[in-house]
Amino acid sequence: MRTTILFEVLPALSFLCLNLIARLHNLNLPRQLFCAGIRRDDDIRTGRGTLKTEKIINNKARFLYPLQRIISQNIVIIMKLFLLKYMGKIITIVNQKGGVGKTTTAVNLAASLALAEQDILVIDTDPQGNLTSGLGVSREDLEKSLFDVYAGRCEMREALIMTVMEHLNIIPSTIDLLGVEVELAGREERENVLGSAIDSIREKFRYIFIDCPPSLGLLTLNALVAADSVLIPVQCEYYALEGLGQLTKTLRLVRGSLNSNLEIEGILLTMFDPRNNLSQEVEVEVRKHFGDKVYTTVIPRNVTLGEAPSYGKPVLLYDIRSKGAQSYLSLAKEILNENGAGQGA
Ligand code: ATP
Ligand code: MG
Repeated sequence: MRTTILFEVLPALSFLCLNLIARLHNLNLPRQLFCAGIRRDDDIRTGRGTLKTEKIINNKARFLYPLQRIISQNIVIIMKLFLLKYMGKIITIVNQKGGVGKTTTAVNLAASLALAEQDILVIDTDPQGNLTSGLGVSREDLEKSLFDVYAGRCEMREALIMTVMEHLNIIPSTIDLLGVEVELAGREERENVLGSAIDSIREKFRYIFIDCPPSLGLLTLNALVAADSVLIPVQCEYYALEGLGQLTKTLRLVRGSLNSNLEIEGILLTMFDPRNNLSQEVEVEVRKHFGDKVYTTVIPRNVTLGEAPSYGKPVLLYDIRSKGAQSYLSLAKEILNENGAGQGA
């Protein structure tokens, strides 16, 4: 089932139903309601009797048009809630700034949710492939990767592999992803390739996390178009807020044209050092700007979080008692509470 089709078809159906009801009640609505730019009342304006009829028609149309919009908007909201409950939520982890903790968050948040028996998929859209290697997947031995999906050489499910953790699956990436811009050049709807590919496997997972590269290019754009929401890691350091303006502008543009449903899932403060005044100042500043969008959980600077990827493991499997592991477990709890805990949580 293709979510995009549902979002488009259902409002259109409600629109058609209303049109039908109007016809059954012989309302004969002015055509500009259905076909922009053509005014039906222009060609029926003959004689005094018609003018009176036209006034009645327009009064009824004035009532029906907002009604139709309310009905279609509500159908979209209901369908969205239904899809999120049964088809998994797609959360893109994004910040064009490098080294702020995107991949560390993708690996460890996904692992913490998998520990709560949620079926999770992580998608590595970064040619650096840190998410892939951080989950112990050898990039050299891969038969299929995300690039093959972009190139139309395989379906998403064929590139999917299991990780060391039960409930945690990954679509890995290789350096080939650098060629996506060239591969998609001239292709129609090139910003929606990832979203369409995910549709075919979406219902198998409760959460799908997409890890982005540190740029706002085509790979990130595809990840934003595919997403229900974005999680933005912000490193607690001097230039933390720099670049967030550009990111929020990009999000606004994507909302305005390609994905009107895109929301901010949350802002996550990372690499927090309580001994450092600057960390505290950044926290105050970010909370002032983004209010309750900022998670209560703050990820501390913790060496264990930096060590775990070199063993190809989420920090939970490396040292579950570390502050890093505990902070990502706490973040997972926060996310489950906000989204309504699923089965087994
Ligand atoms: P890129 O933009 O290059 O993809 P990123 O935003 O994905 O980077 P990470 O790779 O997650 O950032 O983190 C950058 C480095 O910082 C890594 O070496 C990682 O192990 C380390 N790191 C991330 N979070 C923490 C933390 N809370 N404490 C200590 N080290 C951390
Ligand atoms: Mg990364």
